Amino acid sequence: MLPLPSFSLLAPDRLDDVLAPLGQPGVRLLAGGTDLLPSMKHRLFKPATLLSLSRVPELARIEPTEDGGLRIGAMATLLGVRQDARVRAGWPALASACATVATRTIQAMGTLGGNVMLDTRCLYYNQPAGWRASIGGCLKAEGSVCHVAPRGTGCYAAQSSDTVPSLMLYEAELELLSRRGSRRLALSELFSADGRDGPRIERDELLRAVILPPPGAVVLHRKVRPRGAIDYGMLLVAVRRQGDGGSAVISALGPAPVSVRVEQLGDLAQAAWKASNPLSTHSWSSTWRKHMVRIEVARAVAELTTPRLAIAHG
Ligand SMILES: Cc1cc2nc3c(=O)[nH]c(=O)nc-3n(C[C@H](O)[C@H](O)[C@H](O)COP(=O)(O)OP(=O)(O)OC[C@H]3O[C@@H](n4cnc5c(N)ncnc54)[C@H](O)[C@@H]3O)c2cc1C
Ligand code: SF4
Repeated sequence: MLPLPSFSLLAPDRLDDVLAPLGQPGVRLLAGGTDLLPSMKHRLFKPATLLSLSRVPELARIEPTEDGGLRIGAMATLLGVRQDARVRAGWPALASACATVATRTIQAMGTLGGNVMLDTRCLYYNQPAGWRASIGGCLKAEGSVCHVAPRGTGCYAAQSSDTVPSLMLYEAELELLSRRGSRRLALSELFSADGRDGPRIERDELLRAVILPPPGAVVLHRKVRPRGAIDYGMLLVAVRRQGDGGSAVISALGPAPVSVRVEQLGDLAQAAWKASNPLSTHSWSSTWRKHMVRIEVARAVAELTTPRLAIAHG
């Protein structure tokens, strides 16, 4: 078992007391800890202070918005979102996406906010410190070369949050909060082109809630992973039908999800295939993962055009 490095823990019960230290050097937000704590055990992050959001009840609320949409607090657990009757009825692809994250136990701890703010992942990076040292680290941690693109200057670690593709197709917005006030950001604006950069919010901001517009969008979520029981996706796909046409968001292939829109739904699989460029950030071949983009989008389109629609897992 890998030990955690030492750190101080702050767990305020008022939002103002969370915002006060946020942005100070060495302080990092802790939600469910299901990604952050394993990453700390791997010595990928060494925060001096963890600032827990777990004692602020308002952050876990799920409530309707005035226009008929839904406001999901960042600390709502994936299991809570998956089981929420309003989510299942109005935004079923989000419920399905929560159900494909890891295991039910992890879903009971992991939050929607933590999922959206997840660090990018790579075969050469998400490894214990000794493993990384044996290859001299990489551009994202402790090294000077990218093992995926040795002649490049960028990092191609993949955005791999299960909920992001369907949230993007539901046109979700993020409510961000700092001592300076609150602002909204379209989820599609969150992601950087370089896998080292992390989510594009300010250091003193936190994600307070995910805002879903009123229901009505017909969206389907699909995930390809090595084992059905627990693994991160090697490919994440969400597809939305819009009249005769449609859109797809493809993820887990690079630092930012790829969006595609076509006038005829029948053209979506080919367009998604053309737009996707998986690199060797995963132990599965990039060629096969690109091939699977076309297959998975075609499967999603087929499901969307049959009378039986996205059914959330129970
Ligand atoms: C075995 C295993 C398998 C997993 N499989 C998957 C998978 O298949 N798909 C998947 O998507 N995830 C997977 N995960 C990762 C994780 O469980 C989920 O992504 C979960 O939703 C993360 O939420 P959390 O609350 O635990 O986040 P944390 O680990 O607490 O935080 C994650 C990151 O988000 C930041 N953060 C958290 N909350 C906020 C906030 N409100 N505002 C700003 N920043 C914030 C933290 O500082 C940290 O950088 C897996 C984890 C494990 C251990
Ligand atoms: S893509 Fe390159 S720089 Fe980024 S984590 Fe992987 S090996 Fe490191």
